[in-house]
Amino acid sequence: MPITPANIQWSGAQPLARDFDDIYFSADGIAETARVFIQPSGILERVQKQDTVCVAELGFGTGLNFAVLAQTLIGQSNARLQFISFEKFPLTQGDWDKVLRERREALPIYGELVHQAPPLLPGWHQRIFAAGRVTLQVYHGDVADGLADLAARQTNPVDAWFLDGFAPRKNPAMWAAQLYAHMASLAHSTTTVATFTAAGHVRRGLQNAGFHMRKVDQQPFKREGLAGVYQGHAPRRANIPPLRAVIHGAGMAGAFTARHLAEAGVKVKVFDPNGIAQGASSMSATVLHSRLLADGSANADLRSSAFHYASTYLQRFKSFDSTGVMWVQGPNLDTAKLQRISAAYQATDANQQAWIRHLSGADASDACAAKINADALYHPTGGVVDAKALCAELLGHGAIEVIPAAGPIDTTAPNIVCAATATRRFPGCEGLEITNVHGQLDWYDSARPVVHMPVVGNGYLVPTAAGCVLGASYEQKPWHEDEATAHNLQLNRHLLGDTKLSWKSRRRGARCVSSDRTPVVGQLDSDNQGDALWLHTGLGSMGTTAGLLGAAAVSAAILGWLPPLAPEVAHLMRPGRFKERQARRGVRHIEPLEPEYRP
Ligand code: SAM
Repeated sequence: MPITPANIQWSGAQPLARDFDDIYFSADGIAETARVFIQPSGILERVQKQDTVCVAELGFGTGLNFAVLAQTLIGQSNARLQFISFEKFPLTQGDWDKVLRERREALPIYGELVHQAPPLLPGWHQRIFAAGRVTLQVYHGDVADGLADLAARQTNPVDAWFLDGFAPRKNPAMWAAQLYAHMASLAHSTTTVATFTAAGHVRRGLQNAGFHMRKVDQQPFKREGLAGVYQGHAPRRANIPPLRAVIHGAGMAGAFTARHLAEAGVKVKVFDPNGIAQGASSMSATVLHSRLLADGSANADLRSSAFHYASTYLQRFKSFDSTGVMWVQGPNLDTAKLQRISAAYQATDANQQAWIRHLSGADASDACAAKINADALYHPTGGVVDAKALCAELLGHGAIEVIPAAGPIDTTAPNIVCAATATRRFPGCEGLEITNVHGQLDWYDSARPVVHMPVVGNGYLVPTAAGCVLGASYEQKPWHEDEATAHNLQLNRHLLGDTKLSWKSRRRGARCVSSDRTPVVGQLDSDNQGDALWLHTGLGSMGTTAGLLGAAAVSAAILGWLPPLAPEVAHLMRPGRFKERQARRGVRHIEPLEPEYRP
């Protein structure tokens, strides 16, 4: 699963790729980026006329082209930037830290980029900057695979291509004719291409693919480079983005999706007869972590991608507290599984993976100040989410209107149903296999702090200023409240030692869980896309993580961008899967909808 990192040798501030015997950029990298890529592409002129520009780069490296362009656009225009890049050998955290030291002063955006650098895992990684004005999508893997996926799944064209893949004779894989064909398939009638090389076969290859090429004098940086404009067959048309969208449901799925769309410039109406954040979304102490799998499955990819997207996305919101989370052994994590996860994600090598650490019981006990008897997995970027406050915080955007009533289906705008189990009341959704699983959290006071960070094991324990929160019961049919309190205490007793707790309060809510425990995300009828409803529900116990990845995926698809997850993960979550299964094995009992559950 993990990916081979870049093998860099630093010469002062300049990185050199040992395996390619080539430099990432020349001594004056910032000026070179402007001269070789930004100016010949005419991007600063384009943003006077376009709301959004989409730039795609082959070779992300140290992110210098991205940082220079994003920083320039944020400072000089109101345009949005969609920046897509491909990288087979990403930087380790150690190299990112060095880049940050060298560049922070000239390019402050590096502070955010390095703080949320994509992990050394394959596939798509999305990051958001400047309150949603800049979206970065980096594909970790071979450019040929990533580009084919982009060409297949993104409907919007690319405005400008930057070709920055080491010298062609040192790295021919980045200059293959097949790549130019994919670039052409994503080009519209004024799409540009720019590169530092003037190699004859690159110019001819691009020309054959439909780009009209010219040489560009780049003294004093390089002798000559190339620039061109697409003039080939069948240019792509831009998707006309919707001006408005309607969301049914103001819980986590609805609030997260509304915010993603609003930051992309869409006016959003959110309807919910129960108001903001009911059910599982009403919990003020949930833990952001991931129950990782180590089997290489799409489900494993979903869990880790959702965790990474959420833990970086939430950094700018005050309802998230990045405390770190300790995942200790229990019924869902035995020693063998912990070892498999640790090996698969390289959790023993801090230089490879900064987001997960395999700790001994003694080290885990020290880190969280509780008695942990066996090895544990530590998520430094996990934390505590006040889900209820987060929904309100995300919905508090000027382009979002929340209406405390049920809304009609609006046939003139995309409709996204995020209504937990009540989604089944919407047309065509009756057969969705989703149901309520009730849960309870209990608040306690204690004379002294219980633990230093949230601990997830049998249940979960979250430290608070006054004591702690213990959770979370998983009740197929609602239990008596006292029974749930006793159960939550039992789940966490081994962490409490002799700490005296005094019970203070409880909160109950229902999670919406699907029959295969996987979220339901995508368009209801993917064969009949036009007006079909979009669904985002069935988040189960993964609301804060999968809810954010699902919001990013749905909003990207509505706007014509690439959903930032693997096609296999999108397939796993597709709403149509229940109908397909029912056609094969018949309709199993779908529980009648309960009257709205109220704690
Ligand atoms: N734009 C970068 C920057 O701002 O630092 C410099 C890019 S560097 C010249 C070329 C990059 O292409 C390297 O990071 C290298 O790892 C990457 N690369 C090389 N072969 C690749 C391949 N087959 N697929 C994807 N990326 C590749």
